[in-house]
Amino acid sequence: MKLPQEGQSWDLLQASLAERRGDDAKWRHGRTAVYVFNAGEDIMAIQKEAYAAYMSENGLGPLAFPSLAQMERDVIDMALGLLHGPDGATGAMTSGGTDSITMAIKAARDCARSRGNFAAAGNIVLPQSAHLAFDKACHLMDIEVRRIPLREDGSYQADVSAMNAACDSSTLMLVGSAPNFPHGIIDPIEDLGRLAQARGLWLHIDACVGGYFAPFARLNGVPVPPFDFEVEGVCSMSADLHKYGYAAKGASTVLFRSEDLYRFMPFDLTTWSGAPMKTPTLAGTRPGGAISAAWAVMTHLGAEGYCRLQAEVCETRQRVERGVRNLGFEVLGEPLLGLIAFRHPELHSFAIYGELFKRGWFTSVTREPPSLHLMLSPRHADFIDDYLADLQASMETVKAGAAAKPSAVQVRYS
Ligand SMILES: *Cc1c(COP(=O)(O)O)cnc(C)c1O
Repeated sequence: MKLPQEGQSWDLLQASLAERRGDDAKWRHGRTAVYVFNAGEDIMAIQKEAYAAYMSENGLGPLAFPSLAQMERDVIDMALGLLHGPDGATGAMTSGGTDSITMAIKAARDCARSRGNFAAAGNIVLPQSAHLAFDKACHLMDIEVRRIPLREDGSYQADVSAMNAACDSSTLMLVGSAPNFPHGIIDPIEDLGRLAQARGLWLHIDACVGGYFAPFARLNGVPVPPFDFEVEGVCSMSADLHKYGYAAKGASTVLFRSEDLYRFMPFDLTTWSGAPMKTPTLAGTRPGGAISAAWAVMTHLGAEGYCRLQAEVCETRQRVERGVRNLGFEVLGEPLLGLIAFRHPELHSFAIYGELFKRGWFTSVTREPPSLHLMLSPRHADFIDDYLADLQASMETVKAGAAAKPSAVQVRYS
């Protein structure tokens, strides 16, 4: 497309925007279980209006926009209140989980360097199920990534003693997930905390997809093990608001046990031609709307609202568990939150995935072991029976040998 010589009217463009959606995944009809978190029309309206209210303002300028600075502090305080942040704990909002993880690694690296531990870039030790954002961040910073196979007891949890064996004097961070994305399972965070303390290592908990879910699941009676700052050795956490915080996209939090750890994150430069500038995270310009929308949704929902929504998601996940077990699937590990992965002992999961895709379902897969994967939202409650019916129909197509070969199925979904 070439920039039009003469601009078009907003009326036309508005219609065009609506029309362009035609071929997109039908998430409003519950047909996606990845990318979108649908908590209903009322929450969506608040996201939209609260975002629009501060859309032009810039979180880069806390002195110009004390309103945004205060809303960000409020969000961080609410987060730390949920995740057992001790006195003096602090953090910042970022653009997303990848940003939060990158900044936590940067802080851990600079902290290790400040102690003179090593001159080289170092390494981080993490379970094989940890998010690829860690690899991306380490690629940027030239840090070595040591991915350690999971335990082989069917728990799909980190193997803490194998992680211990992989540490050396250049290790700057240990990682646990709460939960991991591929299996939706929470790692043994208390064991990781003990290991981190014994070795004097920085422990980061990636609660991108669980940070705003697990505390409420626990309030609802789900036996969630300790996973946050309650565990002594945890130094930093990532928790995404634009996932189960139901905020507008572009909102995550990166949290630190103390100011002493946090201070390694901001970037400060006074020696260029421009004005001295200090930024807490990777971004320069920070969209004010992402901050105001997160603040508004959190304040609107309150603990009561989150408990209600997360209870709906857990109930839907249990319906999926029962439904897929009845169809002969094995659920991977013991999921407690909104993610679930399952595989069939005989039928190839990717072939079933392909059939579901043809039926209009945009879900995800797990590669190790090959499984179907769902990340559920509150509004899936209304659609999950349709999914289970299509899952059964897809299995039958695969059983009849009428499906595409698994190798031909497009499972790279981004
Ligand atoms: C989504 C996710 C991330 C990355 O977050 P983005 O907001 O997509 O950058 C990291 N870790 C886990 C466990 C996640 O689910």
